[in-house]
Amino acid sequence: MFRFRFCSFCAFLVQRLCGFGLYYWLIFHIFLPLSFFFALSFLSSFQQSPAASVGIKKIMEAYPDHFQKASENILIWKDGTQMVFDDGLQKSRQELLESPDLEDQLAMPYPKGENTPPPKKGEDAGRIRYEPFFRKMYGNTAAEVQQKLAEVVWLPKTLKIKLKVTTVNDIHKKITAISEALDEKPHLKKYLQNPAGTFNWRNISGTNRLSTHSFGMTIDLNVAHSHYWQWDSKSKDENISLVYRNQIPMEIVLIFEKYGFIWGGKWYHYDTMHFEYRPELL
Ligand SMILES: [Zn+2]
Repeated sequence: MFRFRFCSFCAFLVQRLCGFGLYYWLIFHIFLPLSFFFALSFLSSFQQSPAASVGIKKIMEAYPDHFQKASENILIWKDGTQMVFDDGLQKSRQELLESPDLEDQLAMPYPKGENTPPPKKGEDAGRIRYEPFFRKMYGNTAAEVQQKLAEVVWLPKTLKIKLKVTTVNDIHKKITAISEALDEKPHLKKYLQNPAGTFNWRNISGTNRLSTHSFGMTIDLNVAHSHYWQWDSKSKDENISLVYRNQIPMEIVLIFEKYGFIWGGKWYHYDTMHFEYRPELL
């Protein structure tokens, strides 16, 4: 004849509290342990990879038009495309530049605001970019990016220069707002005239990586008052020691940062004419 056997603790509990019976056996041996297991799983799903969930939230808030939801370590675009946030790999400095993931893109804090000291070696917040993210957002080819460009007038009162920038993330409206703010400051005109370019589908000099100028969300100011590490050092070697140089006034930088643009003058590998739209870092 079939007989149930109880562990001594359960037998004690059942005898004390409930008497014998199949229902109590099921409650103690199946239902309660399973409930406990599912409760633990549910709670732990909120606790795993806090860095991933914080980073994904940051990206979703910075670019509110593009994502539908995120799971544990995956960012999901509105069309269902999935992107892994953290590939879990440790990378060298060069590997971070050449094959980063979204986690690497966010890892280095950007020093927002004025009174930031000249960047030290290794401080290049924003130069690490997960290229598929930008291709997906702004266009995967030159033609795709071009379809989304709009014309804006750079400093409409004084310079009246026509520039083409992307409409994605309302960047044409943001550049217009920056332009109008700068137009009120005639003492800054020499830095703002002859802007060196916005949209240009090309690689970063000396690399196989696309420049953010390819995406129409970047502007270079007047070269005549700018400094670029490769020109000053006459080298494209990432490991070279540099002496920081800059003429661009902070007044300009603060206006760009207010609208979601980071400045290449805050990189050890400085590029002081360069502003790109990277609200996830601000
Ligand atoms: Zn540039």
